[in-house]
Order: sequence, then structure tokens, then C-alpha cells
Amino acid sequence: MKIRSINSLRNLKDKKIFLRLDFNVPMKAGKIKDDYKMQAGLETINFLLNKKAKLIIATHLGDPQGKVDKKLSTAPLARHLAKLLSLNVKFIPSLTGAKIKPELLKMKSGEITFLENLRFHPGELSNDNNFAKELASLADVYINDAFAVSHRTQASVSAIKKYLPAYAGLLLAKEVQAIQRALKPKKPLVTIMGGAKIKTKAPLIKSLYPASKFILLGGGLANNFLKFYGLEIGRSLYDKDSLPIIKKLLKNKLKNKKIILPIDVVIKDRAGKIKSKKINEVKKSDTILDIGPETVNLYAEKIKKAQTLIWNGPMGKFEETHFKHGTMAIARLMAARSSGRAYGLAGGGETVEALKMSGMMEHVDWISTAGGAMLAYLSKEKMPGLTKIIF
Ligand code: ADP
Ligand code: MG
Repeated sequence: MKIRSINSLRNLKDKKIFLRLDFNVPMKAGKIKDDYKMQAGLETINFLLNKKAKLIIATHLGDPQGKVDKKLSTAPLARHLAKLLSLNVKFIPSLTGAKIKPELLKMKSGEITFLENLRFHPGELSNDNNFAKELASLADVYINDAFAVSHRTQASVSAIKKYLPAYAGLLLAKEVQAIQRALKPKKPLVTIMGGAKIKTKAPLIKSLYPASKFILLGGGLANNFLKFYGLEIGRSLYDKDSLPIIKKLLKNKLKNKKIILPIDVVIKDRAGKIKSKKINEVKKSDTILDIGPETVNLYAEKIKKAQTLIWNGPMGKFEETHFKHGTMAIARLMAARSSGRAYGLAGGGETVEALKMSGMMEHVDWISTAGGAMLAYLSKEKMPGLTKIIF
């Protein structure tokens, strides 16, 4: 793999750079709730400022579907970035048109202009060439540092590259390298998967199946497999369309030694009582909400022998105290093994939340905050945001 990264750019002094970032941070009542995505973008920004470039920064925020929605203006992001950098950041409440260009003419080297929410323009979501051309006309060079949207066919990550020379930002390069390392794993690879939606997880199981020694399943995802194998799952989270998906995945091989299912679970019964049970003791009136202690032991044995670990999806409804233990145990095992001999990659919205909760973040080699994009890249789907910058 080759990355065309900004490290290979020379003479950036006074060059106008269109920098696509992912500053899609969680907001509440106009306030930024968690700025980790902005923190993560600072490395590329500082790199370019040190080279005396002129930065034109753009991001989306939320999903306004091509319409202006004042609540989703990126103005607060520009203000927060100014604070983080202790620099002036000029916000322009626009994306195209006559308003921008005179402002850009005034820019000096090492200055930053921040544009309005890319998704205020309908051309962003439709990957419109004219919109992409207009964005491109603002700058001399295009940099993508928004890995989290690089599985999307959208103007600011896809079509824009028709009109400007394109490079990878430092964060995007790191994300790509981390995932590539997991895709060419030092063996044995043990994959751990849980969470909710089988439709979004099936492509990942399929893609990681050949290289994995084991795929350890938990969460709502495992319920579908348990049911497929004829076990009672009671009132547990389950996707009624899952049977054909699993059939296809397993190619009807009923005996499957790679896919490992829970041997015990934590359930809530009809009366609201919480118990751990062997998997064949689950009743119609029970709800499975976590993996059980014997399953944790079984998975621990396998995790401890891995040289590469990939984890996506919690083992249970970890947001509730009673049902967090399986997920917390996996987080600790993953952290212990990755801080030792194995290479550990984890990602997914709730998986990252669970890792944060466990206090184990720093011990895992790479935690991707790119959710859907990480899953897409691991599933070997098309990545329109990476063409021309990753080969
Ligand atoms: P990620 O964002 O990490 O990819 P998902 O979005 O697939 O993960 O799923 C996470 C959600 O699945 C969590 O909010 C968790 O509460 C829920 N979940 C996991 N296992 C169960 C279960 N057995 N019953 C109900 N919800 C579950
Ligand atoms: Mg999620």
C-alpha cells in the first residue's frame, strides 16, 4: 500500500489548502459535548500552519440533508478551534459564491478560514461535480483528513479530487495504516464481534472470516446465531431477517469451528430478576442482555493466544450496570493482550464508549473513531474518499 500523504508536499508557503476534516462532534444546545474529533485533527492543522500554508477548513455537522439549518452551523466549531489553537479563525457562513473569494484574497500565510456546514448544500450529498468544482476553485491543493466519511460518495471527499491534486492528512493516514495492519494480520487473528445490527456486521464477518482463527460473538449479534442453531433466545434482541443472512454467511456449514457462540448468558426473567444461565436453559420469557462468566473465560483463553485482535460491538447492553460485565471483561482482556504481544484494533460508536467506560483506551493499539468507515474498510467495500490518495 502507498499513501500519498502531506508529508510528501513541498513548498506549501502561501498555498491555499482545502482541508476536509471530520469535526462532526456531538452537540447539545449549541455547545460541543466532546471535542475529541477536533483534538484529533490538530496534528494536520499544525503541520500545515508550520509550513505557512493558508488553510480553508470544511466539515459537515449532523445531517441537514442539503438544507440550511441554523442549529447545525459550524460557527461554534470555528470558535472552538480558535480556542484550541490560540489563533484567529475566520468563519465564513457560506460554501460557494461571491462572499468567499474576496475574503480568501485577504488571507495571509498561516491563517485559517472556516467554512459553513458542507451538508447545507445539496451538492455535497449528491457528489455534484459543479459543487465540487466550486469548492476546488477556492484552493490549490486538497487534503482529506476525514477518514470517517471516506466510505461516502460525497462531493467534499470524492468529486473534488477531479479538480485538485489530492493528499492524505496525517490522521487519515494513521487510520488507514492501522486498519491495513489488521487486514494483513500477524496470526493468529481473533475477531470479537457484538452489538446490534446483523445487516451492518455480516459483511465484516464475511471479510474477516478467512484470516480469523476464531470469531467470538456476543451481544444482539450472537442472538441471531443462537436462534439459527435452534436455541431458545426468548425475548432477546433479534433481527427477523437474519436467517438467510447467516445461511449465506456459513454456506450452510452447520458445524462451524471458527464462529464461537456464548455458552452462558446473563438474562432478565419475566419477574425482572437478573441471573446467569447456561445457554440451553434460557426460557421463552427471558431476555439475554450480556454474555456470562463461563463465556468470558472461554473467550479469554482465545484472546490470550492471539497475535492480532479486532473488536467491534459490545457483548451486551453495557449501558446498564447489571449488563456491562461481559463487555468490560472483553475490554480489559483486549487491552492486556494488545499492550503485550498482540496488535489490537477496536472501533465502532458504542465500542469506543465501552472502552472509555473501562478506562482501557490507552492500552489498545488503535481505536478507530470512524465507526461506519472503519467497518466498510475492514469489509473491503469501496472507499471513494481514498481513491487517488491510497494505492
Ligand atoms: P458499535 O457502534 O460499536 O458498532 P452497535 O451499534 O452495533 O455497536 O451496537 C451497540 C448497541 O448494542 C449497544 O448500545 C448495546 O446496548 C446494544 N446491545 C448489545 N447487546 C445487546 C443485547 N443482548 N440486548 C440488547 N442490546 C444489546
Ligand atoms: Mg453503534
